[in-house]
Amino acid sequence: MPPSPDATNPDTRSFDPDRLALPSGHFIAGRFVPARGGIPLHRPSDGAAFADCPVAEPALVDEAVAAAAKAVRESGWGERPPRERVRALHRWADLIEEKAGVLAPVEAVASTRPVGQLAAGDVAVTAEQIRFFAEFADKETDDLVPTGAGSLGLVMSEPYGVVGAITPWNFPLSMAGWKLGPALAAGNAVVLKPSEMTPFSTLLLAALSVEAGLPAGLVNVVLGDGPTTGTALTGHPGIGKVSFTGSTAAGTAIMTNVARTGVKPMTLELGGKSPQLVFADADLALAARAVAGSLLANAGQACVAGTRLIVAEAVADALVEAIGAHCAGIRPGPTWDAATTYAPIISERQIARIEAIVGAALAAGAECVRGGTRLDRPGTFYAPTILRRVGTDSPAVREEIFGPVLTVQTFRDEDEALALAEHPTYGLAAGLFTRDLSRALRVTRALQAGTVWVNRYGRSRDHILPTGGYKQSGIGKDLGREAYLANRRSKSVLVDL
Ligand code: NAD
Repeated sequence: MPPSPDATNPDTRSFDPDRLALPSGHFIAGRFVPARGGIPLHRPSDGAAFADCPVAEPALVDEAVAAAAKAVRESGWGERPPRERVRALHRWADLIEEKAGVLAPVEAVASTRPVGQLAAGDVAVTAEQIRFFAEFADKETDDLVPTGAGSLGLVMSEPYGVVGAITPWNFPLSMAGWKLGPALAAGNAVVLKPSEMTPFSTLLLAALSVEAGLPAGLVNVVLGDGPTTGTALTGHPGIGKVSFTGSTAAGTAIMTNVARTGVKPMTLELGGKSPQLVFADADLALAARAVAGSLLANAGQACVAGTRLIVAEAVADALVEAIGAHCAGIRPGPTWDAATTYAPIISERQIARIEAIVGAALAAGAECVRGGTRLDRPGTFYAPTILRRVGTDSPAVREEIFGPVLTVQTFRDEDEALALAEHPTYGLAAGLFTRDLSRALRVTRALQAGTVWVNRYGRSRDHILPTGGYKQSGIGKDLGREAYLANRRSKSVLVDL
């Protein structure tokens, strides 16, 4: 999911964050709906208060759901010749790319994403996701099924109508693309609630959809927090399906709310604590680059961050040293400086959490090989941190830290490596590095994870591969054909001849 940490675009300029105009309000039925007050937001890069995120009350969520239902009904979005959807979504994707120079600063100022990585990274990925899903829209055929002479059996596929989507703060644009692309291509309208910490780029995406000619009301954005706006959205009777990406705790709360308010299907993309296994025969330079890349990308604030290094004892020292060398090359700085490559941590609260987990590991006897402190500069930056001699039950090994903290555990044989890799609750992703093909396939089979990367780590633009978790890392898939199909339901028809 995270765009490559190396995806820099020299054309993306530094900008003055104090002179940046941000969109405000909610976006419903093709128009910005003014709103005042709300949750005060601070820029991660320097801590300055810069905007408020309004909180939509349930009545406004009602309005957005009604606008979505009306748009999908009156425009015939899900019923007209599907090639029209394909063309409209391509126009929108083109416009998103054209407006990269507007989207990138708006994203950079609120989030942890450096402006130099946005245009060629997150913005381009978002446009590609929309194009990728658009192409499914007119490739689907209904099935004629054998039901015996004298009858005709059909399985028809239909959209849900209105999809309720909720996204996290860590990659706001591409997470919105994950949700909007498949839901719209499949013929639905969407009401999307972005994270209250990074809501602005999603508002722009919605406004661009109308500018590109999508029916007003097809993409609606309500801003707000989880307990008020999120709960109203996931429990809304006008929503046919919930599509969520965020923490396992919030996913659990959503399941409870959906169960309480009425049954509806859900896809949940949740947290992780992903291992990277490096065997003694691996290309160590390649493994070091991949492990460091996953630690440093968005400063470890990625669901699939591979922050549990499990390495063969014989090569552990050499590998840790090589990873450390990559960490030495970071360029921390404000997200509005084009030279920045190392992201700040999203909030003071999150820094405090990282400090508490690292502190507890050190108090329990872990050895800090590198980092272990906040960076001495404005904003919320934390040094790339490598911890050795950490116990399997340490919170540093068990909890999703969502920061640049790598734990190192060593193994003597494959069984021990697999035992260490197994997490009691998470199963989002895993990486493994070896030159032995048989081992690679055997270990891949044994790993309990929704994605396994072999001799690489992280996705790039391979949208065809579904992404999703085993265990409590989620239910269902985003990306891939599965994500498109998850936004449609089947109707069985039996005609008596
Ligand atoms: P979060 O769970 O705190 O918030 C995510 C979104 O859910 C926000 O929009 C929030 O307002 C909303 N929310 C919170 N409680 C809610 C509730 N009770 N009902 C409805 N909505 C609610 O997560 P975050 O801090 O924004 O993002 C980080 C988390 O997201 C990490 O756990 C990370 O692993 C996960 N994540 C997972 C994937 C994936 O593909 N599996 C991708 C990105 C992020």
